Amino acid sequence: MILIGAAAAVLFLVLRSPDPTEPSVTVFPLPERYAGSYSNDWGAARVQGTHEGTDVFAPQGTPIRSVTAGTVSRAFGSGGKGWNNLGGYTVMIEASYDVGPIERGDRLYYAHMNGPTPLEPGDTVRAGQKIGSVGDTGQGPPGTRGKFEPHLHLGWYAGWGFLEPNRSEASSGAMNPYPLLRGIERDKPPQKEQSGDVE
Ligand SMILES: [Zn+2]
Repeated sequence: MILIGAAAAVLFLVLRSPDPTEPSVTVFPLPERYAGSYSNDWGAARVQGTHEGTDVFAPQGTPIRSVTAGTVSRAFGSGGKGWNNLGGYTVMIEASYDVGPIERGDRLYYAHMNGPTPLEPGDTVRAGQKIGSVGDTGQGPPGTRGKFEPHLHLGWYAGWGFLEPNRSEASSGAMNPYPLLRGIERDKPPQKEQSGDVE
């Protein structure tokens, strides 16, 4: 009985402590102290139209971590160094695995970063790997910054875009990341502060 109890305890600990390097996990993209700094702003009016994402507010330089394991690509409409005239410095990561509501091939879009991501298209990343830092870039030609408060704009696009009408009603294939983020918080509290979280 003692052995069974010990084995159950170990199993419990393993299940309770997801390794953020495992592909089958999702990770909150900012340090835990910013887990409350977003709201369901999907569809809110923005200069470019309705908002297709979730804004998570944090100071400039706060590290951004990949929500999923995936492969780096350039976001649509972005040029050298991942600059996009709306999103500023951006990076897109295509999910490598089905995990929670994310399906393999879905794309996560991280925008307004402080500078270009050090990653190159085709690089693979782990869930929780640092991919950039929070900034206030965008809404203008390359280098534009300071037009809004620093924040991470997180976008989530169905892998097959508008061809998945059961998942996305937007022509871009965008889906609302708010319930995704709340689900991550609920299932796996954001990681404790790590060294290197402040730049
Ligand atoms: Zn946004």
